Amino acid sequence: MSDVAYEAVIGLEIHVQLSTRTKMFCGCELGFGEPPNTRTCEVCLGLPGALPVANAEAIHFGLMIGLALDCDLAPRSIFHRKNYFYPDLPKGYQISQYDEPLCRGGKLGDVRIHRVHLEEDAAKLIHLGTSGRLHGSEASIVDFNRGGTPLAEIVTEPDLRSAEDAGEWLRLLRTTLRRLGVSDVNMEEGSLRCDANISIRPAGTHELGTKTELKNMNSFRFIERGIRAEIARQEALLRAGEPVVQETLHFDPRTEAITSLRSKEEAHDYRYFPEPDLTPVGITDAMLERARAAMPELPAARAERFERELGLPADGARLLAWRTELGDYFEAALADDGDDAPEPQALANWLNELVARIETDDPAESQVQPRALASLAAMVAGKRVTQNAAKQVLDRLVAEGGDPAAIVEAEGLGAIGAGDELEPVVQQALDANPDVVAKLSAGDMKPIGVIVGHVMRETRGRADGGAVTRIVRQKLGL
Ligand code: ADP
Ligand code: MG
Ligand code: ZN
Repeated sequence: MSDVAYEAVIGLEIHVQLSTRTKMFCGCELGFGEPPNTRTCEVCLGLPGALPVANAEAIHFGLMIGLALDCDLAPRSIFHRKNYFYPDLPKGYQISQYDEPLCRGGKLGDVRIHRVHLEEDAAKLIHLGTSGRLHGSEASIVDFNRGGTPLAEIVTEPDLRSAEDAGEWLRLLRTTLRRLGVSDVNMEEGSLRCDANISIRPAGTHELGTKTELKNMNSFRFIERGIRAEIARQEALLRAGEPVVQETLHFDPRTEAITSLRSKEEAHDYRYFPEPDLTPVGITDAMLERARAAMPELPAARAERFERELGLPADGARLLAWRTELGDYFEAALADDGDDAPEPQALANWLNELVARIETDDPAESQVQPRALASLAAMVAGKRVTQNAAKQVLDRLVAEGGDPAAIVEAEGLGAIGAGDELEPVVQQALDANPDVVAKLSAGDMKPIGVIVGHVMRETRGRADGGAVTRIVRQKLGL
Protein backbone atom coordinates (compact mmCIF):
# COMPACT_ATOMS: atom_id res chain seq x y z
CA MET A 1 0.00 0.00 0.00
CA SER A 2 2.57 2.52 1.09
CA ASP A 3 4.73 2.05 -2.00
CA VAL A 4 1.94 3.08 -4.36
CA ALA A 5 2.97 5.92 -6.64
CA TYR A 6 0.43 8.74 -6.63
CA GLU A 7 -0.53 11.08 -9.41
CA ALA A 8 -1.91 14.55 -8.81
CA VAL A 9 -5.07 15.79 -10.52
CA ILE A 10 -5.57 19.53 -10.68
CA GLY A 11 -8.32 21.77 -12.05
CA LEU A 12 -8.12 25.56 -11.93
CA GLU A 13 -10.73 28.26 -11.44
CA ILE A 14 -9.46 31.62 -12.61
CA HIS A 15 -11.02 35.01 -12.07
CA VAL A 16 -10.00 37.70 -14.53
CA GLN A 17 -10.87 41.35 -14.08
CA LEU A 18 -11.88 42.68 -17.47
CA SER A 19 -10.39 46.00 -18.47
CA THR A 20 -13.57 47.59 -19.72
CA ARG A 21 -14.02 51.31 -19.18
CA THR A 22 -17.02 50.91 -16.88
CA LYS A 23 -18.33 48.36 -14.38
CA MET A 24 -20.32 45.22 -15.16
CA PHE A 25 -23.80 46.56 -14.41
CA CYS A 26 -23.50 50.33 -14.03
CA GLY A 27 -21.82 53.33 -15.64
CA CYS A 28 -19.16 53.85 -12.95
CA GLU A 29 -15.64 53.88 -14.31
CA LEU A 30 -13.36 51.15 -13.03
CA GLY A 31 -11.26 52.46 -10.17
CA PHE A 32 -7.64 51.60 -9.43
CA GLY A 33 -5.77 53.63 -6.88
CA GLU A 34 -8.39 56.41 -6.70
CA PRO A 35 -9.48 57.60 -3.25
CA PRO A 36 -11.78 54.96 -1.73
CA ASN A 37 -15.48 55.06 -2.57
CA THR A 38 -15.19 57.62 -5.36
CA ARG A 39 -16.29 55.21 -8.13
CA THR A 40 -19.71 54.26 -6.89
CA CYS A 41 -23.37 54.73 -7.67
CA GLU A 42 -26.69 53.39 -6.42
CA VAL A 43 -26.31 50.25 -8.57
CA CYS A 44 -22.87 49.13 -7.38
CA LEU A 45 -23.66 50.19 -3.82
CA GLY A 46 -26.71 47.95 -3.97
CA LEU A 47 -29.21 50.64 -3.00
CA PRO A 48 -32.85 49.53 -3.08
CA GLY A 49 -34.63 50.00 -6.38
CA ALA A 50 -31.48 50.51 -8.49
CA LEU A 51 -31.49 48.54 -11.75
CA PRO A 52 -28.46 46.85 -13.35
CA VAL A 53 -27.71 46.94 -17.09
CA ALA A 54 -25.19 44.45 -18.53
CA ASN A 55 -22.01 45.98 -19.98
CA ALA A 56 -21.84 45.27 -23.73
CA GLU A 57 -18.04 45.57 -23.78
CA ALA A 58 -17.71 42.96 -21.02
CA ILE A 59 -19.86 40.59 -23.08
CA HIS A 60 -17.67 41.35 -26.11
CA PHE A 61 -14.55 40.53 -24.07
CA GLY A 62 -16.27 37.37 -22.83
CA LEU A 63 -16.87 36.31 -26.43
CA MET A 64 -13.24 37.00 -27.33
CA ILE A 65 -12.10 34.82 -24.42
CA GLY A 66 -14.53 32.12 -25.54
CA LEU A 67 -13.13 32.24 -29.08
CA ALA A 68 -9.54 32.17 -27.82
CA LEU A 69 -10.28 29.12 -25.66
CA ASP A 70 -12.17 27.38 -28.43
CA CYS A 71 -15.42 27.28 -26.45
CA ASP A 72 -18.99 26.83 -27.59
CA LEU A 73 -20.56 30.27 -27.34
CA ALA A 74 -24.11 30.18 -26.04
CA PRO A 75 -26.53 32.05 -28.30
CA ARG A 76 -28.46 32.83 -25.14
CA SER A 77 -27.19 32.93 -21.57
CA ILE A 78 -28.64 34.34 -18.39
CA PHE A 79 -27.52 35.90 -15.14
CA HIS A 80 -28.31 34.47 -11.72
CA ARG A 81 -28.24 35.84 -8.22
CA LYS A 82 -25.75 34.02 -6.02
CA ASN A 83 -26.85 34.77 -2.49
CA TYR A 84 -24.54 35.11 0.47
CA PHE A 85 -23.87 37.69 3.11
CA TYR A 86 -20.55 39.44 3.43
CA PRO A 87 -19.67 43.09 4.08
CA ASP A 88 -18.01 43.43 0.66
CA LEU A 89 -21.28 42.53 -1.07
CA PRO A 90 -23.87 45.21 -0.30
CA LYS A 91 -26.77 43.63 -2.24
CA GLY A 92 -26.48 40.38 -0.31
CA TYR A 93 -25.96 38.59 -3.61
CA GLN A 94 -23.48 38.57 -6.46
CA ILE A 95 -24.80 38.70 -10.01
CA SER A 96 -23.12 35.76 -11.75
CA GLN A 97 -23.95 33.09 -14.28
CA TYR A 98 -24.99 29.62 -13.18
CA ASP A 99 -26.40 26.88 -15.38
CA GLU A 100 -26.51 28.88 -18.60
CA PRO A 101 -23.04 30.45 -18.91
CA LEU A 102 -21.74 32.46 -21.86
CA CYS A 103 -19.19 29.79 -22.90
CA ARG A 104 -18.97 26.04 -22.45
CA GLY A 105 -16.32 23.48 -23.31
CA GLY A 106 -13.10 24.46 -25.04
CA LYS A 107 -9.40 23.89 -24.84
CA LEU A 108 -6.18 25.80 -24.31
CA GLY A 109 -2.93 23.95 -24.85
CA ASP A 110 -3.43 20.47 -23.41
CA VAL A 111 -6.11 21.50 -20.95
CA ARG A 112 -9.83 21.30 -21.56
CA ILE A 113 -11.98 24.22 -20.50
CA HIS A 114 -15.16 23.41 -18.60
CA ARG A 115 -16.83 26.81 -18.89
CA VAL A 116 -16.37 30.57 -18.89
CA HIS A 117 -18.93 32.89 -17.35
CA LEU A 118 -19.33 36.56 -16.52
CA GLU A 119 -19.96 38.05 -13.10
CA GLU A 120 -19.21 41.06 -10.93
CA ASP A 121 -16.37 41.48 -8.47
CA ALA A 122 -17.00 42.18 -4.79
CA ALA A 123 -15.81 45.34 -3.06
CA LYS A 124 -12.53 45.41 -1.20
CA LEU A 125 -12.31 44.84 2.52
CA ILE A 126 -9.40 46.52 4.26
CA HIS A 127 -8.54 45.13 7.67
CA LEU A 128 -7.13 47.84 9.87
CA GLY A 129 -5.64 45.50 12.43
CA THR A 130 -4.63 46.90 15.78
CA SER A 131 -4.33 50.44 14.44
CA GLY A 132 -8.06 50.58 13.80
CA ARG A 133 -9.64 49.36 16.96
CA LEU A 134 -13.30 50.20 17.28
CA HIS A 135 -14.88 49.62 20.69
CA GLY A 136 -11.97 47.39 21.53
CA SER A 137 -12.12 45.11 18.50
CA GLU A 138 -10.14 45.34 15.29
CA ALA A 139 -12.06 47.14 12.57
CA SER A 140 -12.30 46.64 8.83
CA ILE A 141 -13.39 49.20 6.28
CA VAL A 142 -14.84 48.72 2.80
CA ASP A 143 -13.77 50.36 -0.46
CA PHE A 144 -16.57 49.97 -2.98
CA ASN A 145 -14.54 51.14 -5.98
CA ARG A 146 -13.80 47.53 -6.90
CA GLY A 147 -17.39 46.39 -6.33
CA GLY A 148 -19.05 45.63 -9.65
CA THR A 149 -15.84 45.33 -11.69
CA PRO A 150 -16.52 42.87 -14.56
CA LEU A 151 -15.03 39.42 -14.07
CA ALA A 152 -14.70 36.45 -16.36
CA GLU A 153 -14.46 33.19 -14.45
CA ILE A 154 -12.64 30.47 -16.37
CA VAL A 155 -13.01 26.89 -15.08
CA THR A 156 -10.80 24.11 -16.42
CA GLU A 157 -11.42 20.38 -16.46
CA PRO A 158 -9.14 18.48 -14.04
CA ASP A 159 -6.47 17.92 -16.71
CA LEU A 160 -3.32 19.17 -15.00
CA ARG A 161 -0.96 16.68 -13.35
CA SER A 162 1.62 18.69 -11.42
CA ALA A 163 2.32 22.04 -9.81
CA GLU A 164 4.76 22.86 -12.60
CA ASP A 165 2.16 22.01 -15.28
CA ALA A 166 -0.35 24.22 -13.54
CA GLY A 167 2.12 27.10 -13.40
CA GLU A 168 3.09 26.71 -17.03
CA TRP A 169 -0.50 26.48 -18.20
CA LEU A 170 -1.48 29.51 -16.18
CA ARG A 171 1.31 31.44 -17.86
CA LEU A 172 -0.07 30.43 -21.23
CA LEU A 173 -3.52 31.58 -20.17
CA ARG A 174 -2.14 34.87 -18.93
CA THR A 175 -0.23 35.50 -22.15
CA THR A 176 -3.33 34.62 -24.15
CA LEU A 177 -5.51 37.04 -22.18
CA ARG A 178 -2.88 39.74 -22.42
CA ARG A 179 -2.69 39.26 -26.18
CA LEU A 180 -6.46 39.58 -26.34
CA GLY A 181 -6.19 42.88 -24.49
CA VAL A 182 -9.16 42.02 -22.27
CA SER A 183 -7.38 42.33 -18.92
CA ASP A 184 -4.24 43.61 -17.20
CA VAL A 185 -3.77 40.04 -15.91
CA ASN A 186 -1.67 41.24 -13.01
CA MET A 187 -1.66 38.64 -10.23
CA GLU A 188 -0.07 40.90 -7.63
CA GLU A 189 -2.75 43.54 -8.18
CA GLY A 190 -5.51 40.96 -8.23
CA SER A 191 -6.67 41.32 -11.82
CA LEU A 192 -5.83 37.62 -12.29
CA ARG A 193 -6.72 35.34 -9.37
CA CYS A 194 -6.52 31.60 -9.21
CA ASP A 195 -8.05 28.84 -7.08
CA ALA A 196 -6.60 25.36 -7.47
CA ASN A 197 -8.63 22.17 -6.98
CA ILE A 198 -6.35 19.32 -6.07
CA SER A 199 -6.71 15.58 -5.56
CA ILE A 200 -4.39 12.62 -5.89
CA ARG A 201 -4.93 9.03 -6.99
CA PRO A 202 -2.79 5.95 -7.54
CA ALA A 203 -0.90 6.53 -10.80
CA GLY A 204 -2.53 4.74 -13.69
CA THR A 205 -6.04 4.72 -12.19
CA HIS A 206 -8.85 6.85 -13.56
CA GLU A 207 -11.28 7.49 -10.75
CA LEU A 208 -10.96 10.95 -9.23
CA GLY A 209 -9.91 11.27 -5.60
CA THR A 210 -11.46 13.62 -3.07
CA LYS A 211 -10.39 17.16 -3.88
CA THR A 212 -9.51 20.16 -1.80
CA GLU A 213 -9.55 23.74 -3.00
CA LEU A 214 -6.65 26.14 -2.44
CA LYS A 215 -8.06 29.63 -2.45
CA ASN A 216 -6.87 32.81 -4.06
CA MET A 217 -3.15 32.56 -4.52
CA ASN A 218 -1.72 35.77 -5.87
CA SER A 219 1.51 34.87 -7.62
CA PHE A 220 2.72 32.12 -9.92
CA ARG A 221 5.39 31.08 -7.46
CA PHE A 222 2.90 30.82 -4.58
CA ILE A 223 0.53 28.80 -6.72
CA GLU A 224 3.19 26.28 -7.62
CA ARG A 225 4.45 26.09 -4.04
CA GLY A 226 0.91 25.86 -2.64
CA ILE A 227 -0.05 23.04 -4.98
CA ARG A 228 3.18 21.18 -4.26
CA ALA A 229 2.61 21.50 -0.50
CA GLU A 230 -1.02 20.35 -0.79
CA ILE A 231 -0.09 17.33 -2.92
CA ALA A 232 2.50 16.37 -0.28
CA ARG A 233 -0.05 16.83 2.50
CA GLN A 234 -2.61 14.60 0.75
CA GLU A 235 0.00 11.97 -0.01
CA ALA A 236 1.07 11.85 3.64
CA LEU A 237 -2.58 11.40 4.68
CA LEU A 238 -3.23 8.55 2.27
CA ARG A 239 0.02 6.83 3.14
CA ALA A 240 -0.96 7.01 6.79
CA GLY A 241 -4.29 5.41 5.92
CA GLU A 242 -6.27 8.56 6.59
CA PRO A 243 -8.81 10.08 4.20
CA VAL A 244 -8.52 13.42 2.43
CA VAL A 245 -11.39 15.61 3.58
CA GLN A 246 -13.11 17.82 1.05
CA GLU A 247 -12.52 21.37 2.20
CA THR A 248 -11.42 24.84 1.20
CA LEU A 249 -7.87 25.67 2.20
CA HIS A 250 -5.57 28.62 2.59
CA PHE A 251 -1.85 28.42 1.80
CA ASP A 252 0.44 30.78 3.67
CA PRO A 253 3.47 31.37 1.42
CA ARG A 254 5.59 32.61 4.34
CA THR A 255 5.21 29.55 6.54
CA GLU A 256 4.09 27.04 3.87
CA ALA A 257 1.25 26.22 6.28
CA ILE A 258 -2.05 25.00 4.90
CA THR A 259 -5.10 25.81 7.00
CA SER A 260 -8.78 25.05 6.59
CA LEU A 261 -11.15 27.88 5.65
CA ARG A 262 -14.28 25.76 5.58
CA SER A 263 -15.29 22.14 5.20
CA LYS A 264 -17.92 20.68 2.92
CA GLU A 265 -20.47 20.72 5.75
CA GLU A 266 -20.10 24.45 6.09
CA ALA A 267 -20.19 25.02 2.32
CA HIS A 268 -22.44 27.86 1.22
CA ASP A 269 -25.88 27.22 -0.10
CA TYR A 270 -26.05 30.06 -2.57
CA ARG A 271 -29.77 29.70 -3.37
CA TYR A 272 -29.16 30.63 -6.99
CA PHE A 273 -32.11 32.04 -8.88
CA PRO A 274 -32.40 33.92 -12.17
CA GLU A 275 -31.74 37.64 -11.87
CA PRO A 276 -35.15 39.20 -12.52
CA ASP A 277 -33.73 42.66 -13.28
CA LEU A 278 -31.65 41.60 -16.31
CA THR A 279 -32.74 40.32 -19.69
CA PRO A 280 -31.00 37.22 -21.08
CA VAL A 281 -27.80 37.83 -23.04
CA GLY A 282 -28.54 37.18 -26.70
CA ILE A 283 -25.52 36.86 -28.97
CA THR A 284 -26.17 38.29 -32.43
CA ASP A 285 -24.20 37.59 -35.60
CA ALA A 286 -22.96 41.15 -35.48
CA MET A 287 -21.55 40.61 -31.98
CA LEU A 288 -19.82 37.41 -33.07
CA GLU A 289 -18.47 39.14 -36.15
CA ARG A 290 -17.06 41.94 -34.04
CA ALA A 291 -15.43 39.50 -31.59
CA ARG A 292 -13.85 37.46 -34.41
CA ALA A 293 -12.54 40.61 -36.08
CA ALA A 294 -10.86 41.65 -32.83
CA MET A 295 -8.88 38.41 -32.42
CA PRO A 296 -5.06 38.77 -32.64
CA GLU A 297 -2.71 35.86 -33.29
CA LEU A 298 -2.69 33.90 -30.04
CA PRO A 299 0.35 32.31 -28.36
CA ALA A 300 -0.66 28.73 -29.17
CA ALA A 301 -1.04 29.60 -32.86
CA ARG A 302 2.19 31.56 -32.77
CA ALA A 303 4.03 28.56 -31.32
CA GLU A 304 2.68 26.39 -34.12
CA ARG A 305 3.79 28.94 -36.69
CA PHE A 306 7.31 29.06 -35.18
CA GLU A 307 7.42 25.27 -35.43
CA ARG A 308 5.97 25.05 -38.92
CA GLU A 309 7.59 28.00 -40.65
CA LEU A 310 10.84 28.38 -38.75
CA GLY A 311 11.51 24.76 -37.93
CA LEU A 312 11.93 25.36 -34.20
CA PRO A 313 11.41 22.35 -31.92
CA ALA A 314 8.06 22.35 -30.06
CA ASP A 315 9.43 23.28 -26.64
CA GLY A 316 11.61 26.05 -28.03
CA ALA A 317 8.68 27.43 -30.02
CA ARG A 318 6.48 27.41 -26.92
CA LEU A 319 9.10 29.13 -24.85
CA LEU A 320 9.15 32.04 -27.27
CA ALA A 321 5.46 32.20 -28.11
CA TRP A 322 4.09 31.71 -24.61
CA ARG A 323 6.04 34.69 -23.39
CA THR A 324 4.84 37.42 -25.70
CA GLU A 325 7.77 39.71 -24.96
CA LEU A 326 10.27 37.02 -25.99
CA GLY A 327 8.31 36.18 -29.13
CA ASP A 328 8.09 39.83 -30.09
CA TYR A 329 11.80 40.40 -29.59
CA PHE A 330 12.63 37.22 -31.50
CA GLU A 331 10.47 38.25 -34.44
CA ALA A 332 11.90 41.77 -34.44
CA ALA A 333 15.43 40.32 -34.60
CA LEU A 334 14.44 37.84 -37.28
CA ALA A 335 12.84 40.55 -39.39
CA ASP A 336 16.04 42.54 -39.40
CA ASP A 337 17.35 41.63 -42.82
CA GLY A 338 20.88 42.81 -42.47
CA ASP A 339 23.65 41.35 -44.59
CA ASP A 340 22.99 37.79 -43.62
CA ALA A 341 19.80 36.87 -41.81
CA PRO A 342 20.40 34.64 -38.79
CA GLU A 343 19.10 31.12 -38.70
CA PRO A 344 16.01 30.96 -36.38
CA GLN A 345 17.33 28.26 -34.05
CA ALA A 346 20.68 30.01 -33.67
CA LEU A 347 18.90 33.27 -32.98
CA ALA A 348 16.69 31.57 -30.39
CA ASN A 349 19.82 30.25 -28.66
CA TRP A 350 21.35 33.71 -28.54
CA LEU A 351 18.10 35.11 -27.21
CA ASN A 352 18.34 32.58 -24.37
CA GLU A 353 21.89 33.74 -23.71
CA LEU A 354 20.62 37.31 -23.59
CA VAL A 355 17.71 36.49 -21.26
CA ALA A 356 20.10 34.76 -18.88
CA ARG A 357 22.15 37.95 -18.67
CA ILE A 358 19.42 40.52 -17.95
CA GLU A 359 17.38 41.37 -14.89
CA THR A 360 14.06 42.18 -16.58
CA ASP A 361 11.64 39.72 -18.17
CA ASP A 362 11.57 41.72 -21.38
CA PRO A 363 14.74 41.77 -23.52
CA ALA A 364 13.37 44.84 -25.30
CA GLU A 365 14.05 46.73 -22.08
CA SER A 366 17.73 45.78 -22.24
CA GLN A 367 20.51 47.72 -23.99
CA VAL A 368 20.69 45.08 -26.69
CA GLN A 369 18.81 45.99 -29.85
CA PRO A 370 17.12 43.11 -31.71
CA ARG A 371 19.22 43.97 -34.76
CA ALA A 372 22.41 43.71 -32.67
CA LEU A 373 21.49 40.23 -31.48
CA ALA A 374 20.59 39.20 -35.04
CA SER A 375 23.90 40.41 -36.35
CA LEU A 376 25.82 38.71 -33.55
CA ALA A 377 24.10 35.40 -34.38
CA ALA A 378 24.91 35.90 -38.05
CA MET A 379 28.57 36.62 -37.26
CA VAL A 380 28.85 33.39 -35.31
CA ALA A 381 27.12 31.44 -38.08
CA GLY A 382 29.53 32.98 -40.60
CA LYS A 383 32.45 31.96 -38.35
CA ARG A 384 33.54 35.57 -38.09
CA VAL A 385 33.52 35.23 -34.31
CA THR A 386 33.69 32.10 -32.22
CA GLN A 387 30.94 31.11 -29.81
CA ASN A 388 33.22 32.01 -26.95
CA ALA A 389 34.17 35.43 -28.23
CA ALA A 390 30.53 36.13 -29.12
CA LYS A 391 29.61 35.60 -25.47
CA GLN A 392 32.14 38.26 -24.52
CA VAL A 393 30.61 40.55 -27.15
CA LEU A 394 27.17 39.88 -25.71
CA ASP A 395 28.39 40.78 -22.24
CA ARG A 396 29.52 44.12 -23.66
CA LEU A 397 26.23 44.63 -25.49
CA VAL A 398 24.28 43.96 -22.29
CA ALA A 399 26.47 46.42 -20.37
CA GLU A 400 26.49 49.28 -22.83
CA GLY A 401 24.59 48.46 -26.02
CA GLY A 402 26.12 49.20 -29.41
CA ASP A 403 26.96 47.30 -32.54
CA PRO A 404 28.55 43.85 -32.26
CA ALA A 405 30.70 44.27 -35.37
CA ALA A 406 32.17 47.46 -33.91
CA ILE A 407 32.86 45.74 -30.59
CA VAL A 408 34.56 42.83 -32.35
CA GLU A 409 36.67 45.29 -34.30
CA ALA A 410 37.58 47.48 -31.34
CA GLU A 411 38.35 44.56 -29.02
CA GLY A 412 40.14 42.48 -31.63
CA LEU A 413 37.71 39.62 -31.02
CA GLY A 414 37.43 38.44 -34.63
CA ALA A 415 37.74 34.70 -35.14
CA ILE A 416 41.12 33.27 -36.06
CA GLY A 417 40.45 30.62 -38.64
CA ALA A 418 42.74 28.01 -40.14
CA GLY A 419 44.89 30.69 -41.73
CA ASP A 420 48.48 31.69 -40.98
CA GLU A 421 47.60 33.56 -37.82
CA LEU A 422 46.60 30.43 -35.93
CA GLU A 423 49.49 28.18 -36.92
CA PRO A 424 52.17 29.80 -34.73
CA VAL A 425 49.89 29.82 -31.70
CA VAL A 426 49.25 26.08 -32.12
CA GLN A 427 52.99 25.47 -32.52
CA GLN A 428 53.63 27.39 -29.32
CA ALA A 429 51.05 25.27 -27.49
CA LEU A 430 52.68 22.05 -28.75
CA ASP A 431 56.13 23.29 -27.72
CA ALA A 432 54.86 24.09 -24.25
CA ASN A 433 53.35 20.61 -23.77
CA PRO A 434 55.83 17.91 -24.86
CA ASP A 435 54.12 15.25 -22.71
CA VAL A 436 50.80 15.89 -24.47
CA VAL A 437 52.54 15.73 -27.84
CA ALA A 438 53.98 12.34 -26.89
CA LYS A 439 50.54 10.96 -26.04
CA LEU A 440 48.95 12.40 -29.18
CA SER A 441 51.73 10.91 -31.32
CA ALA A 442 51.12 7.55 -29.64
CA GLY A 443 47.49 7.74 -30.83
CA ASP A 444 45.88 8.85 -27.55
CA MET A 445 43.78 11.85 -28.64
CA LYS A 446 42.25 12.53 -25.21
CA PRO A 447 44.67 15.26 -24.10
CA ILE A 448 44.10 17.33 -27.25
CA GLY A 449 41.84 19.47 -25.03
CA VAL A 450 44.98 20.74 -23.33
CA ILE A 451 46.27 22.10 -26.63
CA VAL A 452 42.92 23.60 -27.62
CA GLY A 453 42.62 25.14 -24.16
CA HIS A 454 46.08 26.63 -24.41
CA VAL A 455 45.29 28.16 -27.82
CA MET A 456 41.97 29.49 -26.55
CA ARG A 457 43.69 31.18 -23.64
CA GLU A 458 46.29 32.72 -25.89
CA THR A 459 43.66 33.96 -28.32
CA ARG A 460 41.11 34.93 -25.68
CA GLY A 461 38.63 32.42 -27.09
CA ARG A 462 38.91 33.65 -30.67
CA ALA A 463 40.30 30.46 -32.20
CA ASP A 464 38.09 28.01 -34.06
CA GLY A 465 38.44 24.75 -32.06
CA GLY A 466 37.95 22.62 -35.18
CA ALA A 467 40.72 24.46 -36.97
CA VAL A 468 43.07 23.99 -34.00
CA THR A 469 42.48 20.23 -34.06
CA ARG A 470 43.10 20.10 -37.80
CA ILE A 471 46.36 21.98 -37.49
CA VAL A 472 47.51 19.69 -34.66
CA ARG A 473 46.76 16.58 -36.75
CA GLN A 474 48.55 18.09 -39.70
CA LYS A 475 51.62 19.01 -37.72
CA LEU A 476 51.93 15.65 -35.99
CA GLY A 477 51.06 13.71 -39.13
CA LEU A 478 48.08 12.04 -37.45
P1 ADP B 1 -17.42 22.20 -7.20
O1 ADP B 1 -18.82 21.77 -7.43
O2 ADP B 1 -16.84 21.75 -5.90
O3 ADP B 1 -17.19 23.64 -7.48
P2 ADP B 1 -16.68 21.47 -9.81
O4 ADP B 1 -17.09 20.15 -10.34
O5 ADP B 1 -17.48 22.67 -10.18
O6 ADP B 1 -16.57 21.38 -8.25
O7 ADP B 1 -15.19 21.69 -10.23
C1 ADP B 1 -14.50 22.83 -9.83
C2 ADP B 1 -13.06 22.68 -10.30
O8 ADP B 1 -12.48 21.56 -9.65
C3 ADP B 1 -12.88 22.43 -11.77
O9 ADP B 1 -11.73 23.14 -12.19
C4 ADP B 1 -12.63 20.94 -11.87
O10 ADP B 1 -11.82 20.64 -12.95
C5 ADP B 1 -11.91 20.67 -10.59
N1 ADP B 1 -12.12 19.31 -10.06
C6 ADP B 1 -13.28 18.65 -9.94
N2 ADP B 1 -13.09 17.45 -9.36
C7 ADP B 1 -11.74 17.35 -9.10
C8 ADP B 1 -10.91 16.35 -8.51
N3 ADP B 1 -11.41 15.22 -8.01
N4 ADP B 1 -9.59 16.62 -8.43
C9 ADP B 1 -9.07 17.76 -8.87
N5 ADP B 1 -9.81 18.74 -9.43
C10 ADP B 1 -11.14 18.54 -9.56
MG1 MG C 1 -17.11 25.60 -8.40
ZN1 ZN D 1 -21.76 52.11 -10.05
